[in-house]
Amino acid sequence: MLENKEKDQTKLIYPNTSISTNEIEVYGKEKRDLLSETNPFEMAKKQIDIVAREMGLNDNIKKYLKRVERSLIVSIPIEMDDGRIEIFEGYRVHHSTIRGPGKGGIRYSIKVNLDEVKALATWMTWKCSLLNLPLGGAKGGVCVDPTKLSKSELERLTRRFTAEIINFIGPDIDIPAPDVNTGPQIMAWIMDTYSMHKGRAIPGVVTGKPIEIGGSVGRETATGAGLFFVLEALCKKMNLDLKGQRIVIQGFGNVGGNIAKILYEKGCKIIAVSDIYGGLYAKEGLDINELLSWRDKNKYLKDFQNIGYKFVPNEDILKLKCDILIPAAIENQITQSNAENLDCKIVLEGANGPTTPKADDILDKKGIIVVPDILANAGGVCVSYFEYIQDIHSYFWTLDRINQELKNILVNAFEDVYNLSKEKHVSLRIASYMIAISRLAKAIELRGIFP
Ligand code: NAD
Repeated sequence: MLENKEKDQTKLIYPNTSISTNEIEVYGKEKRDLLSETNPFEMAKKQIDIVAREMGLNDNIKKYLKRVERSLIVSIPIEMDDGRIEIFEGYRVHHSTIRGPGKGGIRYSIKVNLDEVKALATWMTWKCSLLNLPLGGAKGGVCVDPTKLSKSELERLTRRFTAEIINFIGPDIDIPAPDVNTGPQIMAWIMDTYSMHKGRAIPGVVTGKPIEIGGSVGRETATGAGLFFVLEALCKKMNLDLKGQRIVIQGFGNVGGNIAKILYEKGCKIIAVSDIYGGLYAKEGLDINELLSWRDKNKYLKDFQNIGYKFVPNEDILKLKCDILIPAAIENQITQSNAENLDCKIVLEGANGPTTPKADDILDKKGIIVVPDILANAGGVCVSYFEYIQDIHSYFWTLDRINQELKNILVNAFEDVYNLSKEKHVSLRIASYMIAISRLAKAIELRGIFP
C-alpha cells in the first residue's frame, strides 16, 4: 500500500497505542502529554517547529519537511518451521530524497510501527545533510520479535520482506543498513535476494554487509568510533580529560558495546551498562571486555555473576550519578518524567531520538550538554556511505583510511555545530538542525517543486 497522505489527526496523536479515545479521557492530562510527547514522529515534527522558529524558516519549506515522501506498508507471510503461516507487517519510508538516494537502517522489533519508522527516516535526512553526504533519509522495519524465530524463519522473513520492498530500494533509490536487531547476516540475505531478482551481484544495495561480499572494514564499529571522535572533540572544547570520566551506557548492543570498549580502553571508568533486562553497576568501574564476551555468548547482563557488581533495573540506569551518560538503546528514554533526575554533565546520544523535546528543555535548564543523535551517532551512516562508494567503484579502502576520513568528517561537522551554537546562543541540537535544514532548504529551492 502506497501512502502519501498523512492520517487524520486523532490517529496521529496516539497511533502507537491500543488506547481508545475514551480511555484517553480517563488517563488524564499527564498520561496524555506523555503519550503525545513520546510519539516519535510527533517528536520529529516538533523538533522541526522549534528549529524553524529559531532560524526563521520559510513556512512552505517547513510544511514540505514535515511530510515524508512515501511510505510502503507490506504484509510478510512466512511459513514457520512447524508448518504454520504467520503474517508480519513491514515498513519502508523515504522521508526525503532531495539530496540523493535514501539511506537508513532496517530494525526488527515488536515495537516497530509506521510512525516510528517515519521519525527515524526524518532523522536520517538531517543526519546525512549535517554531514553533507549526498544522501537522503529513509528507514525500515518489521514488527517482529526476532528472538522468537529460528535462523531459517529469520532468513525467510528477511528474504520475503526484501522481495516486498524490492522496487523501493536499490543503489540509486534507497540503500538500507543494519539497525536494532539486524546485522551483517541479515544484510547479506537482503543483498542476495535483491541480486537474484536482478540477475547479477549488486553489493551496493545495502551497507553493513559482511566484508567477504562487499562490506567495509570499520563499518561494524563505526557508530561507536564516531561517538568517540565527537566526544573527544567536545571534551577538548571543555578542557576535560576523558581519562577517568565516569560513564553510564544504556544499551549494550552494537552502539553501546562499541563505545563502551573504546572508552574503557581510553581509561574511562564505565560504572554502568545495561541491556533490555537491566544493567550492572560498579563504583570502581566494570570490566567491559569480560562483559562483552558474556554478551557475545547470547547472555544478558542480569545473569552475570560478580559479587562486586550491583544489578540496576532499567528505570534507574539513567538516574545514576556520572560524568557522561550515553543512551544507546532506543528512542524516548529521557522524557519529562525522568529528565529532572539525570545527574551528569554530558548526554551523548548513541541511540536515535532518545530525548524528547520537553526533556531537552529540562536538561538545558539543568546545564547538561546534550550532543544530539544526528551528530553523535552519525559515524554509522558515514562509514555506510564509504561502503557504498567502495562497492560502486569496486575498490576497497584500508581501515586507516576509513578511520581518518570518518574522523575528518565528524570533527568538521562538530566544529560547525559548536561554532554556530556559540554564535547563535542555541543548543548543539538546534545548531545541528539549523545546518542540516538550511542545506535541505537550499536544495529544495534549487530543484524547485515538480511539476
Ligand atoms: P542493537 O540491537 O545492537 O542493541 C540494542 C541494545 O539496547 C541491546 O543491548 C538491547 O538489549 C538494548 N535495549 C533494547 N530495548 C531496550 C529497552 N527498552 N531498554 C533498555 N535497553 C534496551 O542495536 P544498535 O544497532 O546498537 O542500535 C541502538 C540504537 O542506536 C538505536 O536507536 C539505533 O537506531 C541507533 N543507531 C544505530 C546505528 C548502528 O550503526 N547500529 C547507527 C546509528 C544509530
